[in-house]
Amino acid sequence: KKLENKVAIITGAGSGIGKETALLFAKEGAKVVVTDINESHGNAVVDEIKNNGGEALFIKADSSNPEDHKKLVEETVKAFGKLDVAVNNAGIGGESNKVGDMSVEGWKKVIDINLSGVFYGVKYQAPEMVKNGSGSIINIASILGQVGFANSAGYVAAKHGVVGLTKSAAWEYATDKVRVNAVGPGFIYTGLVNEESMGKEALNYLETKHAFGRLGEAREVANLILFLASDDASFITGSYYPVDGGYLAV
Ligand code: NAD
Repeated sequence: KKLENKVAIITGAGSGIGKETALLFAKEGAKVVVTDINESHGNAVVDEIKNNGGEALFIKADSSNPEDHKKLVEETVKAFGKLDVAVNNAGIGGESNKVGDMSVEGWKKVIDINLSGVFYGVKYQAPEMVKNGSGSIINIASILGQVGFANSAGYVAAKHGVVGLTKSAAWEYATDKVRVNAVGPGFIYTGLVNEESMGKEALNYLETKHAFGRLGEAREVANLILFLASDDASFITGSYYPVDGGYLAV
């Protein structure tokens, strides 16, 4: 097993990419702290892990709240003794509008959750991993952390920010053996991206933007996150890895 005896926090683990990552981590031997703003979804993931013989705990937390991140790390250490892996995954799509029409509230909200939420996570996770003598942090960016997308400037700016934050934190914590990397999914079929949230026509168009001609599955992103979390990735830090079916290969 790739994460035997490791303790992991996964934010936004009640749905989509975070959920699949939590299930996979538990299967690979990790003790998983499932955290989400949505209590019933988070608890359901913990139940599923336990039913499969794994170990997990749900802690409700709002990613845009720094105090919640502090408590999350404290409670994780109280429950499982240490912190080895953190996946800063919680995120929203945000307001869809041209910059000129985007509300200030809409801009602030997506920056708060998708960028500041990752900063708060790393701020409290990294020092705890330093105490532990090693660790791996994986921040979930996006292909939109590398290229633009109309009507999503807040989201795109936040995801580009996550990539910069990741590179800087990697330099700061490398000598402490804490690795920090970013993952950039293409469009993945999840709670965020589906017929209901985007409409069938938009989904069909998005499929054509990937060389495979389809959207990704959350498990395909979780597989990359698992690799970066594991000791197999011991010489990898400060990097951005797309998992995008060829979206960026233009
Ligand atoms: P999802 O909606 O299925 O899951 C996101 C989870 O985050 C939900 O359970 C939600 O309750 C939780 N969440 C939202 N706001 C929160 C907050 N303030 N505090 C705590 N939890 C909160 O979406 P997903 O597609 O799995 O997205 C996960 C991450 O992947 C996000 O950061 C997203 O930007 C990124 N991403 C997704 C795609 C995609 O196409 N689905 C592509 C690139 C990047």
